Amino acid sequence: MKSLLAQHHELSQSGRQLQLLDEVVQSAAITPFKEKLKTLGFYPLKPTGIDILQINVGKLCNQTCKHCHVDAGPDRKEIMSRETLEQCLEAVRTSGISTVDITGGAPELNPHFRWFVKECTQLGVKVMNRCNLTVIFSNKKYNDLPEFFAEHKIEVVSSLPFYNADRTDRQRGEGVFAASVKAMKLLNAVGYGKAASGLILNLVYNPTGAFLSSGQQVLEAQFKKVLHEEFDVVFNHLFTITNMPISRFLDFLITSGNYESYLEKLLAAFNPATVNGLMCRNTLSVSWDGYLYDCDFNQMLDLKIGEGDAMHIKNLDLNYLNRREIIVSQHCYGCTAGAGSSCGGEVVK
Ligand code: SF4
Ligand code: SF4
Repeated sequence: MKSLLAQHHELSQSGRQLQLLDEVVQSAAITPFKEKLKTLGFYPLKPTGIDILQINVGKLCNQTCKHCHVDAGPDRKEIMSRETLEQCLEAVRTSGISTVDITGGAPELNPHFRWFVKECTQLGVKVMNRCNLTVIFSNKKYNDLPEFFAEHKIEVVSSLPFYNADRTDRQRGEGVFAASVKAMKLLNAVGYGKAASGLILNLVYNPTGAFLSSGQQVLEAQFKKVLHEEFDVVFNHLFTITNMPISRFLDFLITSGNYESYLEKLLAAFNPATVNGLMCRNTLSVSWDGYLYDCDFNQMLDLKIGEGDAMHIKNLDLNYLNRREIIVSQHCYGCTAGAGSSCGGEVVK
């Protein structure tokens, strides 16, 4: 499957996606997200501090998952340069940020990935890496990634849409489930997911269609039972994440006739208790070319912090960032539905 960009698809343009997000409030009974926040006294949405730097080190990926909000794939060539990574390190050094969350694409395909991880660990910050598992087998030079992760005590976060091949492969591609299990076995072999090893392997579940996830706790128990009993693999926690109505999932919603009804579903499940814990309030997102965003989703919609005067990681201004207004639109309903959704799973426990 090609990325939307390689297909010259209209939804590869952030402007078209934003237009659709605006149109849905006119054509369906969707209250603009901004208005919803206003009625609850949460608008403008403000940060609570900056604890996490989430760095998207590139859109290149060995997979082309159907729901991917990054529109990543083997045909995407955007990769963060060493210079921009140095600027990220400098920002971590000077800002008091405690966690670096590396994402992509497949982050490991960035040629500077291992160097960057080593530098981050030397700074003493917590490092998380969003590994799609199959990248370990995409080339033999990646086969030793589990040992590398363990050596640097990186927290590994891996998507696994379901605990069987059928649902996983439908979303992520033929053979992905089997390769993911094989990768988990290698991670387990070096200590990941094992009690007392201190090496954390968390999995991410997202629905394989236009519906919301069931409860995280229940799903985690099911995943643990089946993956252990049937495949002899273990992990620490399961994060449930709501599919965002942007990019390739937006394309799916439109072509399957589910766009308006999905937005209505998200709106109906709006939970005010999630607003305090929205990840945009304590996280900064950096794109492959170094610009700053409120979150990875705003990044894909090209909603830059600073708007006309976009802010770059090399000019990090913490005073401005802590006072800024977070940019919101209808896609934000994806983060506030039910127990909430963030890169760390449910927001309300
Ligand atoms: S593995 Fe992740 S980044 Fe790559 S295509 Fe799938 S969802 Fe997108
Ligand atoms: S998409 Fe979610 S994390 Fe991003 S700005 Fe909206 S509410 Fe915040």
